[in-house]
Amino acid sequence: MAASKPAPSRGRVARDGAPAPAPVERGRLTQLLQRLGLARDWDLLLHVPLRYRDESTLTPISDLVPGEEAQVEAVVETCQVVFRGRRQLVANLRDASGELIVRLLQFFPSQQALLAVGRRVRAIGLVRGGWMGVEMVHPQLRAADAAATRPLALTPVYPSTAGLPQAWLRRRIERALDSATLEDTLPAPMRAELGLPELASTLRFVHYPPLQVDMAALTERRHPIWERLKFDELLAQQLALRRARQRRETRAAPAAQVDAPRVGLSRALRKALPFDLTAAQKAVWGQVERDLGGHVPMNRLVQGDVGSGKTVIAALAAARAIESGWQAALMAPTELLAEQHFGRIVEWLAPLGIEVAWLSGRLRATERRAALQALQQGQAQLAVGTHALVQPEVRFARLGLAIVDEQHRFGVAQRLALRDPAFAPHLLMLSATPIPRTLAMTYLADLDVSVIDQLPPGRQPVATKLISRGRRDEVLQKIRAEVAAGRQAYWVCPMIEEGGDADASAATQVYQQISAGLPELRIGLLHGALAPRERSTVMQSFAAGAIDVLVATTVIEVGVDVPNANLMVIEHAQRFGLATLHQLRGRIGRGAQRGACVLLYDEPLSEVARERLRIVFDSDDGFEIARLDLKLRGPGEFLGARQWGLPLLRFADLERDSALAERAREVAATLLREHPQAAQRHVQRWLPQASDFLDA
Ligand code: ADP
Ligand code: MG
Repeated sequence: MAASKPAPSRGRVARDGAPAPAPVERGRLTQLLQRLGLARDWDLLLHVPLRYRDESTLTPISDLVPGEEAQVEAVVETCQVVFRGRRQLVANLRDASGELIVRLLQFFPSQQALLAVGRRVRAIGLVRGGWMGVEMVHPQLRAADAAATRPLALTPVYPSTAGLPQAWLRRRIERALDSATLEDTLPAPMRAELGLPELASTLRFVHYPPLQVDMAALTERRHPIWERLKFDELLAQQLALRRARQRRETRAAPAAQVDAPRVGLSRALRKALPFDLTAAQKAVWGQVERDLGGHVPMNRLVQGDVGSGKTVIAALAAARAIESGWQAALMAPTELLAEQHFGRIVEWLAPLGIEVAWLSGRLRATERRAALQALQQGQAQLAVGTHALVQPEVRFARLGLAIVDEQHRFGVAQRLALRDPAFAPHLLMLSATPIPRTLAMTYLADLDVSVIDQLPPGRQPVATKLISRGRRDEVLQKIRAEVAAGRQAYWVCPMIEEGGDADASAATQVYQQISAGLPELRIGLLHGALAPRERSTVMQSFAAGAIDVLVATTVIEVGVDVPNANLMVIEHAQRFGLATLHQLRGRIGRGAQRGACVLLYDEPLSEVARERLRIVFDSDDGFEIARLDLKLRGPGEFLGARQWGLPLLRFADLERDSALAERAREVAATLLREHPQAAQRHVQRWLPQASDFLDA
């Protein structure tokens, strides 16, 4: 970072002896604050200390430990401006025990004055072991007399960024603490009932706790004072959710019509399907169809294990919307999956006279323009694609249904669905990942959930085998036998980085090994760094049976469907997440034969890795696997808010603070009813962008 020249000081010295920020710098500091997301006073108040420093103690210089922060009191022995590439101020400080060098790479005249020879000063900073002895670079300095009064509270140390001095940040936050008209949005009687402290004193405590506080409990947010902030955060989320729901319910929905102009499309599709729906699919389709006919926009999640047949529900829903004169959009998380959907849906819907537009990020300009036009003018009734679908240039003539497949990001789904303030299309989400109870309970109260709890008939559970890599040759034999019997196989290796070169070369290496081991077979290679066109060519040849063994990275994880491929080998299986292993395994066992999945692991296998592989080995139930995985990993990480794309909680934790979340849900209702203004201000404070996420 370029060091800005210190602005000439006007001699304004703040209480602790450090110079006040000069006006010239203020714009830059504000910019830095913004980078930390600190635009409003309220943001500063919620910028909680990383840790605290006890400035009531002094360390003799001889006891200083490099790498630790300490406060010394010493007399300035020498002080001079020296040139080491650039100007810097170097002072020697001495106390009864030893000598310390203080180095300021940028300095103000006021600091020079403070470090006048003979003055007694206090310096607080990180100790470094230089070859000249211990030193502090840019310590916080003040005159010893000014510091003589022992602080009554711990001193906060804030998360900061380069160029933003702690002292400045501290003063800025202190000002916010003093000046903010800190309305407590929780009325006193409610606070009393909940046993929560007042807001202003809570914040003061968190920033300037008393000296005797349990510092660890405070920094780890276990201290009881934290309940208040966590509660307020949860309350804000609940309020925003309720508001979103209210808004959604007041929007007009594109109700599917009974006397639809092209009535019969969905019925025709159902007849044309090469199979009967399972009982579970019928039940779920019934729910979706009912929603589609209603005037409240649908907001439904269809959950079903890998292979349970969610796609056909999406296709039926699209047909139903289209027969009523609406357009539908189907979005998938990866190019490959979107392509598969495109292929299958074209196969199902094109014979019914439906025009499908394909939109991905990598279309040629002319193709893209044609697709956009077809959607905007309404002659394409269905759009299939990736994230490219949510870009602002994509306009629909009359979008009535948005479907998001295997996508755990509600934010994205909402963006697709909620563009128009007066009108909201139906929203249908498909997912193989079970939604955790806590999320469902607190956050997705607004969401209806259908479960396809049955696999299509004739599916045989996949036989899973755990085999050490030392026995790779046996596995190659097995592939030979499989191909000889007219079937195909996948050989999956871990993805190193999405679309990266390392990924390509690792996959290529495996490809070469397999080709050498099975010279008589046709081997294909698929990885994320391939151009989409190449990828779909490979995928198509595999689907057409022109490739015997497909070596692939996890680009095939979701939704790929080649029933004749019934054997899957997963290399370095211990490196994969359990959900991924289950998803991968779901790619096979789709044909009439019993599929086999070989988990090739590297030895030695750690205890945890062994335990994890055992879970996948023992169970073929995605929900059960998710549950055990959660138990093994601990809450928070796995099925957390991140995966579902919910705004992350900064302070509260849905699992740990579930009781608090439950109370926040109740209070949200009361607050909205009895103090709507306070509720409004509460949300504005905590979730200024809630509108992006929830209201759109
Ligand atoms: P997922 O739920 O994982 O998205 P898919 O929709 O891809 O599952 O369906 C998996 C396979 O099962 C596809 O080949 C699909 O055509 C087939 N399928 C779906 N429903 C049925 C059914 N009722 N009977 C037989 N096969 C079905
Ligand atoms: Mg699917």
